[in-house]
Amino acid sequence: MNKYRLFAPGPTPVADEIALEMAGPIIHHRTKEFEKIVAEVRDGLKWLFQTKQEVMLLASSGTGAMESAIINTLNAGDQVIVVDGGKFGERWWKLAQAHGIKPEIIKVPWGEAVDPKEIETRLQTGKYRAVFVQASESSTGVYHPIREIAALTKGREDVLCVVDAISALGAVNLPMDEWGIDMLIAGSQKALSLPPGLAFIALSSKAWKFAESSKLPKFYFDLKRELKNIQTNQSAFTPAISLVIGLRKALEMMREEGLEQLFARHDRLARATREGMKALGLKIYAKVPVNSLTAVQVPEGMDAQKIYKILQDKFNMTIAGGQDAAKGKIFRIAHLGWFDDLDMVTVVGAVELALAELGHKFELGSGVGAVLKVLREKH
Ligand SMILES: *Cc1c(COP(=O)(O)O)cnc(C)c1O
Repeated sequence: MNKYRLFAPGPTPVADEIALEMAGPIIHHRTKEFEKIVAEVRDGLKWLFQTKQEVMLLASSGTGAMESAIINTLNAGDQVIVVDGGKFGERWWKLAQAHGIKPEIIKVPWGEAVDPKEIETRLQTGKYRAVFVQASESSTGVYHPIREIAALTKGREDVLCVVDAISALGAVNLPMDEWGIDMLIAGSQKALSLPPGLAFIALSSKAWKFAESSKLPKFYFDLKRELKNIQTNQSAFTPAISLVIGLRKALEMMREEGLEQLFARHDRLARATREGMKALGLKIYAKVPVNSLTAVQVPEGMDAQKIYKILQDKFNMTIAGGQDAAKGKIFRIAHLGWFDDLDMVTVVGAVELALAELGHKFELGSGVGAVLKVLREKH
């Protein structure tokens, strides 16, 4: 018998309290009862996004909100800057191209963060309408310098800073209004510890101005219509009712913890994981690692997929492997959302057992020991 243990960077485990909350009978969305829930959720999302703007809820996976960002603010033929440092950066330019937008792609080697100067020099040409970037590039575990990038577009009325924070919001500090992020995007199945199916997007007043002149076709993802609806605690179409009910609980739990503590917990779990891996003689793949997940590079000659497979087959534990350029070279451990200190002991212990099986030379327990040292700070 092995309990199921989920350590993938999305979907992440759903908190027990949230699962219970969602198990109740379905209620209708055109009722006072549901409107009250939406009112609470609106308030909680503004708190989490650190914004005065409305945060809109979409019944879709995260990519739906990414697409909505494009079709609600831009026009065919517009030129935009896209930071491509992995699978999700790639998704930005593919989405842009699908809508007739011309991306200038800044190719960042996998495992590295973008240098804001690369963006700054391109912005000086005055050709671009937006900069698209990931806060957490989940395929490499990299954090891109969002504060510095947003600072480049903050003073300019003609360029938007669009941030995919799907695997970052709720794990790392991204104060939307203070930093001047124009569109901030999140998803339910990552740090919010909800099942997949809800996406979130907030627009700055600058982005709403862009929306006035955007003529790209839209219907389901028409954010101007969603804004009008959410202001009366409604939605244009049937919302993902159970998920919204779960979201109220998720936000309540996050508020009880507090923003600072939430980020401090993710920072501690991330450091514990990194130290644990380094103690085993493995390398951290990201040059600038994000606190939501850790991408671990295995030694030359070892196949990272084998670690993934041993954990899955022998321990009923799901981590993530590497994709494309990183396939076989890395594995990824998530620690965003419903994870606590002792979860990191478990996952690092499991990686140790897998490494031992693969004949890797190290002292059994040294990874777990390094994890405990980091956790000791708090306990
Ligand atoms: C998970 C994720 C997405 C969205 O993926 P969906 O499968 O559409 O939810 C987008 N960007 C990043 C960085 C992600 O981690």
